Amino acid sequence: MSEEESAGGGAGAAGAGSDGEAVVAAVEAVAERIEAERAHLTDLDSAIGDADHGGNMARGWAAAAEAARDLDDPDPQTVCKTVGKTLMAEVGGASGPLFGGSLVFASADLDGGVTAESAVAFAETYLEKVEDRGDARVGDQTMVDALTPAVHTFKKSVETDDLPPLEALAKAVDAAERGVAFTVPIRAKKGRASYLGWRSVGHQDPGATSTLYILEEVLATAADALGAEIPDVDATSPTIPDEDAADDEATDPAAEGGD
Ligand code: ADP
Ligand code: MG
Repeated sequence: MSEEESAGGGAGAAGAGSDGEAVVAAVEAVAERIEAERAHLTDLDSAIGDADHGGNMARGWAAAAEAARDLDDPDPQTVCKTVGKTLMAEVGGASGPLFGGSLVFASADLDGGVTAESAVAFAETYLEKVEDRGDARVGDQTMVDALTPAVHTFKKSVETDDLPPLEALAKAVDAAERGVAFTVPIRAKKGRASYLGWRSVGHQDPGATSTLYILEEVLATAADALGAEIPDVDATSPTIPDEDAADDEATDPAAEGGD
């Protein structure tokens, strides 16, 4: 496996620098980040929920990191399955089964190790399972709003644009970040926040936010494992033309006679 395809060493092989160890490192990074953001996640959940998301996630990811560290000869599939089961047992709330159960299912896609292709399959299965279990779709002000653009962008970047996996992942994180921002001006239709009706408008969804933190740490760990910098990516949303470009268009005869 080339360096570009693998997050670590050989496909699924255990040992120094293996993909499995890179996945354990990612889980540890997520646990640290979630702990650091615990108060922030709790604040977000106290505005539109019951103020437990920070505590739920910090407890779950700390236990998951411990369980992952305890594995002998970790391979990516086993690490993800172990983390998923631990999250299901420890996180609780609505988000525990969504994060944990989906991870258990998606772990099967990493059977042969971590490649660009298996990572896309993993991401798609994960999103499918979150949708199956929670019945939320984009626009319902949930974690799905961060996850969906991330998964779609990752898939397109790998399969259509043929980007190196690390750049595809960086684009996915960028898409998730804008997905989190998108939760603010919309109304919650699923989960506890939906009880607030229109009062949920103007608030950032906690689960979308923690999803972004997880993806950011996976990206940072993947870059670390490859000894690469995190790629600087352009926003994938349409950009507003700058003034010069607008002037050019105005003086372009082809543009004249338009509306
Ligand atoms: P609870 O809502 O039970 O207190 P948490 O506070 O841990 O659980 O998690 C809340 C987050 O879970 C929300 O911010 C939202 O992103 C996510 N969530 C809740 N219900 C759903 C659902 N049906 N589908 C997808 N995500 C959901
Ligand atoms: Mg809550």
